[in-house]
Amino acid sequence: MVTKSMGDGQQPRATLGSYPTPLEPMPRLARAIGLGADDLWVKRDDLIGLGGGGNKVRKLEWTCGTALADGATVLVTTGAPQSNHARLTAAAGARLGIDVVLVLSGGPESSEGGNLTLDGLFGARVVWAGEGGKEELASTARHVVGTLRDRGAVPALIPFGGSSVLGARGYVEAGQELLTQTPDLACVVVALGSGGTMAGLVEALGPERVLGVHCGALDDPARVVSDLAFGLSGTHCPPESLRIRHDQVGDGYPVLTEASMTALTLAARTEGMVLDPIYTGRAMAGLTAAVASGEITPGRRTVFLHSGGLPGLFGHREALARAAEELAVDGDPLRAS
Ligand SMILES: *Cc1c(COP(=O)(O)O)cnc(C)c1O
Repeated sequence: MVTKSMGDGQQPRATLGSYPTPLEPMPRLARAIGLGADDLWVKRDDLIGLGGGGNKVRKLEWTCGTALADGATVLVTTGAPQSNHARLTAAAGARLGIDVVLVLSGGPESSEGGNLTLDGLFGARVVWAGEGGKEELASTARHVVGTLRDRGAVPALIPFGGSSVLGARGYVEAGQELLTQTPDLACVVVALGSGGTMAGLVEALGPERVLGVHCGALDDPARVVSDLAFGLSGTHCPPESLRIRHDQVGDGYPVLTEASMTALTLAARTEGMVLDPIYTGRAMAGLTAAVASGEITPGRRTVFLHSGGLPGLFGHREALARAAEELAVDGDPLRAS
């Protein structure tokens, strides 16, 4: 059900998710990584309701609300071929009844399945930008916007990852929602991609209660989060004050790390919870490393933000192959595990 209302600060918004998202205990996972059974809870923003779920929904409520108020007839956004943000922008456009054009890096051979399948299902059109990196992605998006305008449409460009100051408001609200659910929150652990999710949480909870796990999508994640947090509050939040782990990037953003695969397997086998190889797998690996190093300690309430990404698992060749290997039995399917 779509409702359009004026949010605080007179910003229009489109309601796209169902709130509050659940907060669930994860006792078996907690014990497996060295915490007490009641120490670890998971904030299920993967179960937010729209289009396969994930953190981009909260940001899109603000960016799409403004686009609609500005009279937009088509949403344009950019991303990697398996972008969760692109998929959820496609779903938001469907829900709101306006067209969506996704400008994705690479070409038709770059990737298949997963988010791309859903992009098509939601009726979005894809423009491939080639391998020229962020510059080419941005210039192709500008060209698409210009062409749409020439044809009489009213395009709205939704920022990369939805991470503008406006979009990050969605995670200020999520932080407040989380505090209502668990006032004794000591730390929330979150994957850091384009930065808006961490920035919003920092604004709501303070920098000392938010641990971001850098996934390799930005050159200077602390600077980006710091700038977005400043835009939200007008108060300076220096990059040095932010808690960011840089140890989970591995060979780069799209490449599966061993630690992420281990985390995926552990979450699946202790709690029946699915993580994704790029973001939430890295974030869970970062949480595990933080417990091992004593940065996160037992006896205090830690929340893992499940920011979604499940469709990305089905678009990641290596992760799919690794999961399939687990089914290859050595002659005795009933072997003790
Ligand atoms: C985009 C994304 C993130 C990172 O959020 P940002 O606000 O871009 O930092 C984390 N998890 C998933 C599943 C995502 O799609």
